Amino acid sequence: MDHQKTLSPHVLMFPLPLQGPVNSMLKLAELLCLADFHVTFLNTNHIQNRLSRYTDIESRFSGYPKFRFETVSDGLSDDSPRSADRFIEMFLSMEAVTFPLVTEMVASGPLSCNSERPVTCIIADGILSFAVDVGIEVGIPIIYFETISPCALWTYLCIPKLTETGQFPFKGDDLDAKLTCVPGMEGFLRQRDLPSFCRASELIDSTIQLQLVLKQVQKFPKAQGLILNTFEELEGHLLSHISTVCPNLYAIGPIHAHLKARLSLSPKLKPKHSLSNSLWEEDKSCMAWLDAQPKKSVIYFSVGSNTVITRDQLMEFWHGLVNSGKRFLWVRRPESVSGGESMKGQIPAELLEGTKERGCIVGWAPQEEVLGHPAIGGFLTHNGWNSTLESITEGVPMIGWPHFVDQQVNSRFVGEVWKVGLDMKDTCDRVIIEKMVRELMDERKGEFEESAKHLSKLARESVGEGGSSYCNLERLIEDIGSWSL
Ligand code: UDP
Repeated sequence: MDHQKTLSPHVLMFPLPLQGPVNSMLKLAELLCLADFHVTFLNTNHIQNRLSRYTDIESRFSGYPKFRFETVSDGLSDDSPRSADRFIEMFLSMEAVTFPLVTEMVASGPLSCNSERPVTCIIADGILSFAVDVGIEVGIPIIYFETISPCALWTYLCIPKLTETGQFPFKGDDLDAKLTCVPGMEGFLRQRDLPSFCRASELIDSTIQLQLVLKQVQKFPKAQGLILNTFEELEGHLLSHISTVCPNLYAIGPIHAHLKARLSLSPKLKPKHSLSNSLWEEDKSCMAWLDAQPKKSVIYFSVGSNTVITRDQLMEFWHGLVNSGKRFLWVRRPESVSGGESMKGQIPAELLEGTKERGCIVGWAPQEEVLGHPAIGGFLTHNGWNSTLESITEGVPMIGWPHFVDQQVNSRFVGEVWKVGLDMKDTCDRVIIEKMVRELMDERKGEFEESAKHLSKLARESVGEGGSSYCNLERLIEDIGSWSL
């Protein structure tokens, strides 16, 4: 066997097949390519097809000769829906079908120690708890990449303690009751701020979700490390709590900003292309629309890639935004309203008029570019972790309307801890939406802008040369390199 080849670090990366995790894992892959690692990025066939359809990703990564994509089946038929509300079905199918396929690839197939380029480290999404078993079976170090927020992850890790002390499952309906045994969050964490699957009535499959999460956190200590998409200046106090369970943490975020910073350090590599990893076609016409709007005058509204809202909620948002009198850019993902079909027939004429005057609607936006546009003054968001970090990096204050998983914790932190916006959780009312938009964009504008600007500066410093995330990425690169010797 070629000695040189066996010494070369080769990372196998396996994201959860959903937009947010695929996006951030691809950015991490590019960071590892910049460190001259061999990287094999394993996507499900479904995700790879969508990336190929809507981005120039294959030609973009062809600039890295040591990078390649591999695909694997998720076990579902081509026409099965893969939306987040079918997550459990997809996850169970992956456990049954994908896990054995990946094990075989790494144990005796194209990525094994007998292959030309053996894998020396596996980086898998934190929820893919079976990945650690693959690593153990074939004797390869595994690092989990947690794509949810560390503040929510810490609440996951505290569920056994909450259960022991009788604070979970909740008794009674008082969602405002404070929780006392999540260290670092005493005094402000309420029942309603815990991840969505902690509420029995929230989702039909919440019990299975909870079991998956508990299984996930039990597996963490078996991994060699845990990569987190955050920066020490944002969540340092929680990182020290998390490190009591997983001692080897790498906080290297915000990853999207980190990639841009590293690319800009190397003018030769400065991308002439977009860094989009979108699973929908980006409608860039909104950028020209934004160019024509005054500075900080527009509220951007998006609920990300998974959230589905009801027709009633859609009308509340519509009235709230139009009544606020503010300009708005609204992302209406094709399948984001339950019951499907366009709402045209039901929207009152004066609202359509209001939209024409002050609004722009697209099916999918180039969100990072949108948030960095000077016309954006606020973000009405579901507080998915990527969206939250992208907003923090650009210094854009938020109104949080969390839907599920980590988003309930995130919106509490946005409002109560980082003070970069308002938490609208558990309501969807046109009067409140109108009031909060005005509060964010007018009445308390200065206060929110100041704290958002401060956090943005810290985020950028952390990924700059010598910053905390920069140094943590260097350590990660060194560690992975040392494991291949
Ligand atoms: N996004 C985008 N265009 C849109 C809406 C979202 O590019 O119109 C991207 C956004 O920048 C983020 C990701 O999709 O990186 C959504 O991830 P997040 O964790 O915020 O939420 P999720 O979709 O997982 O609920």
